[in-house]
Parts: sequence; C-alpha cells; structure tokens
Amino acid sequence: MSLDEIVITRAILDTYLKQLNEYSEVDVAIAGAGPAGMVAAKYLAMKGKKVAIFERRLSIGGGIWGGGMMFNVIVVQPEGKAILDEFNIKNARYKEDYFVADAVETATKLAAGAIDAGAKIFNLISIEDLMYRENRITGVVINWSAVEMAKLHVDPMTIRAKIVIDATGHDCSLCRVAERKLGLKLATETGGIVGEKSMWAEIGEKILIETTKEVYPGLIVAGMAANAVSGGPRMGPIFGGMLISGKKAAELALEAMK
Ligand SMILES: Cc1cc2nc3c(=O)[nH]c(=O)nc-3n(C[C@H](O)[C@H](O)[C@H](O)COP(=O)(O)OP(=O)(O)OC[C@H]3O[C@@H](n4cnc5c(N)ncnc54)[C@H](O)[C@@H]3O)c2cc1C
Repeated sequence: MSLDEIVITRAILDTYLKQLNEYSEVDVAIAGAGPAGMVAAKYLAMKGKKVAIFERRLSIGGGIWGGGMMFNVIVVQPEGKAILDEFNIKNARYKEDYFVADAVETATKLAAGAIDAGAKIFNLISIEDLMYRENRITGVVINWSAVEMAKLHVDPMTIRAKIVIDATGHDCSLCRVAERKLGLKLATETGGIVGEKSMWAEIGEKILIETTKEVYPGLIVAGMAANAVSGGPRMGPIFGGMLISGKKAAELALEAMK
C-alpha cells in the first residue's frame, strides 16, 4: 500500500471543516474543557442537545491534571462521587465523606464521557467575544488560540448558540466580556463581577451551587468561574463542586431551552 501525503492533508481538511461547519450553529456552546465544562457537555448531549466545547489549550482537563500542588490525586465529597461513578471513574473512600480519584483518569474519562454522549470538543480555539442580540447572548466569537497568543491581527468567526456556558475557570472570561465590553448587568450582588475570594473549601463548595446560574439571558456560568463572578471563595484541590456545578449548569440550560 502506498501513502499519499496529499490524501492525508485532504482527509484532515475535509473532515475538520465539515465538523466546524456542522457546529457553526449549536444548542449549547461551552467555553472551557475543564471539569465543569465537560460534565455539563455530557449531561446536555445525553438529552440529545447539540453541544460544542471550545478549549483554548492543546489539552482538555483544565486544572484537574495536577490534583493538589502536582500530587495528581483529586478529592471529592459524596455528591461528587456520584458523578465520578456516572463517568466510570474509579474512586475510593479516604475517610468518612472524603473520596479520592486519580487526576489523570478523571480528566480523560470526563472527556470520554462527554464525547461518547455526543458532545464535540474543539481544542486550540479561544472564545474571545460574545454575540449579543435583543438583550440576550446568542453565540460566541472564536479564534485560534495561536492567533491570540501571537497577538496577530486576524478577525475571528462566530458560532450561534441558544445557550452559552462560561466554564473558563478563574478567568471567567466570557462574563468579563459581558461586563466590560457589552456593559451588561449580571445577576450578582453588584451587577458586575464580584471577584474570587481566598481559599475556603467548605464554603466555596457550598456556595458554588448557588453561584452556578444564568447570569444574563443566554449566559450560564459554571465551575470556578461561577465563584469568581459571584464572589465565592476558591476551594483548592477538592473537585466535587466543579462536577456538581457542571451538572447543574446542564440542568439550567435544559430548562432555559424548553
Ligand atoms: C492550568 C490550571 C492550573 C490550576 N492550578 C490550580 C491550583 O494550583 N490551585 C487551585 O486551587 N486551583 C487551580 N486551578 C483551578 C482549579 O483547578 C479549579 O478548581 C478547577 O480546575 C476549576 O474547574 P473548572 O472546570 O471551573 O475550570 P478549569 O479547570 O480552570 O478549566 C477551564 C478551562 O477553560 C479554558 N479557557 C479559559 N478561557 C477560555 C476561553 N476564553 N476560551 C476557551 N477556553 C478557555 C482553560 O484553558 C481551561 O482548560 C487551576 C486551573 C488551571 C486551568
């Protein structure tokens, strides 16, 4: 058998462009393939929704890989364990309500779960702006991360979405666009981004359930971004809240699309 490099090139271009074209209009566009984004994607895709995650980095997983301070183990509480089980991620009770799982297994199986359910992950693409029409967020503006990093003057392209989920972690970068660029009043105490507080695992994890919400019509915030937007504390290497928040974001999105 002979191999033709041009066929290889065309196989990549044809397939990728077909996929990008197909996902130019989606039910839900998610920014960030961290734990919150990938969990949200799975539960939405399981309900038959067309979901695309756009991830700035080469790799999926966000901040999971390093566990706590590069010891690649994550800790979750019982509600988080239930979600690990749904993704077939092996876990063990450390003591009482504390369960541990391998960070690498968690990152990869969350991605596999989302993909197997039907979600599509586009890596190396950053969401740099939002589409806004008639008092509603209606999509995202994307560009290659390499363009962003090189600060090249290259125009982005747009993806229409019924719902957008900001799962960008500490950056809460979509909410920042909504606040700064669009001047929108967000559903927070101040109407703007309150900012993340210092680490307090117990409060951070509890508050995350409330801070995961639709902060503006069409824009839901999940995961660490939710606490950053509403002023909750960071919680460090306990990841149960991220999983629960992703699931709640999916439920909110399904409700909003009814
Ligand atoms: C590299 C990294 C290191 C971290 N280290 C620590 C730590 O040492 N201690 C600690 O307490 N917490 C840390 N965190 C945060 C911690 O991991 C979080 O508690 C948890 O990972 C948050 O989960 P998440 O799903 O909300 O977001 P994250 O896991 O942070 O994932 C967010 C994802 O969104 C992507 N993203 C961001 N902006 C955009 C955009 N505009 N368009 C597309 N994609 C975007 C990011 O590349 C990332 O993959 C870290 C996060 C990251 C990403």
